[in-house]
Parts: sequence; C-alpha cells; structure tokens
Amino acid sequence: MSAVLTASELWKTFGEKEVLRGISLELATHEVVALIGPSGSGKSTLLRCLNLLEPIDDGRILLGEEDISDPRVKPDAVRARFGVVFQHYNLFPHLSVLDNVTLASRVVHGVARATAEERGTRLLERIGLADKAREHPDRLSGGQQQRAAIVRAIATDPEVLLLDEITSALDPELVGEVLDLVRELAADGATILMATHEMAFARDVAHRVLFLDGGVVVEEGPAAELFAAPREARTREFLARMS
Ligand code: ADP
Ligand code: MG
Repeated sequence: MSAVLTASELWKTFGEKEVLRGISLELATHEVVALIGPSGSGKSTLLRCLNLLEPIDDGRILLGEEDISDPRVKPDAVRARFGVVFQHYNLFPHLSVLDNVTLASRVVHGVARATAEERGTRLLERIGLADKAREHPDRLSGGQQQRAAIVRAIATDPEVLLLDEITSALDPELVGEVLDLVRELAADGATILMATHEMAFARDVAHRVLFLDGGVVVEEGPAAELFAAPREARTREFLARMS
C-alpha cells in the first residue's frame, strides 16, 4: 500500500503553548484512521495543519510524493486535493444545497456547470436529498446538512478526506445517518483521517487508531487491538472515561 499522506515530526505552537509536539503519522491509500483523545489534545490543529489551514513550525508533510510543507507550495492548490468536513458551519448558507455541492468542482477544478450538476445531483440522490437540491441549507436537518457537507467534500474526488468531529454538534438521533454515510465511503475505499469521539464507530470503521494527548501520539495501533487492549495507562484512562 502506498502512502497518501505522510507527516513527520510536526510541531506547532500558539503563542507559548506547544500544541503539536512532534507528531508523525502515515495514511495509506484506502486506509481509515481515527484520531481520538481528550479535548485540547491537538486533533483539530493537526487536521488543520495537514491541509495547510495552519502553518506548522517544524516538520514535513508529504501528500503523495509532494512535499506540501515546502513554503513555495501554493496552499490553495493543496487544499483542493483534500475533502474536509468540520463540526459545524460547513455549508454556505446563501447557496442552494446543489450549488454547495458543485461549487468547488466548478470554481476550483474548472468543471462545466452541467457536468458538475449532473454529478452533484447523483450524489444527492445517493444520500436521499435530491429533492432538497434547490433548497437553502437552513431547510435541512442537522444530519442532512452534515451529509450534504460530506457529499460536497467528496464531489471533487479528493485524495484524502479529513473529518473533524463531524457528529459532535448533532442531536443524538441524527448521528447515526451521518456515521452510516462515512461507513459507506470507507467501504467504497475512501482514504479517511477522522477525529472522532464516537468510540464504537472508530472501533468498527477505522483500520487504525491514534490516541493523542498533549500534542503527542501516545499510542497507536489497529483499532481492534487498541480498544480491546490499550498498552498505555493514559489510553486506558481515556477509554474508561469515554465508555
Ligand atoms: P482538539 O481538537 O483535540 O480538542 P485543538 O487542536 O482544538 O484540540 O486544540 C489544541 C490546543 O490548541 C488547545 O489548548 C487549544 O486551546 C489550542 N488552540 C487551538 N487553536 C488555537 C488558536 N487558533 N490560537 C490559540 N490556541 C489555539
Ligand atoms: Mg477538535
């Protein structure tokens, strides 16, 4: 399996605070990796650094073979190769659902409107939202909005999907439909790096899990192993709190 994303020794400080303290990770093609860890452990910062939304202070990031931490790299061109979904505020409120889904294809990737809309409509059909294509996002439930945001993120065929706690702002009854869609994408072979506090979901869907605490990877391993028999005391304490 070839590496899609390789991060080596990433360091990031905000003011005096060291938020990432030498984090390394590798994501192989079709691999699903979960980032777990307490609030403030650096999961979101790590994801934001990987797609160049935040500059790193030190370290190296390869996307495929390309060193995207090279200062000469154009961040917009790199970001166009990622699909990203955050906790909330994902969809543009002033655009229709279909325009949300097709915007990046049309504007960033230069796909013709008709082609983008055909594909966008098919994606919305797949998640049962074709009838909402012309509506604005505020007409959708939170779960529908997050599913539309996921579909928007995959509309450009990104090399990597970065998901940051995408269900944590949802009412509990809406979480399942969003996780089911991620599960489907994973089964279809998407390459996914996801911060999540849904431990059962991470155990079921992720191939590998990284436990972060204090800006370092405390422990990592195959999902089944890490959840069944965590080696580190900090991992055990965290998992006990989460269950
Ligand atoms: P997590 O996603 O694991 O909860 P974060 O990456 O959001 O963790 O945050 C890690 C630490 O970095 C926290 O202490 C947070 O307060 C701090 N932090 C995150 N973003 C910023 C920022 N833009 N400016 C200052 N501190 C930040
Ligand atoms: Mg976070």
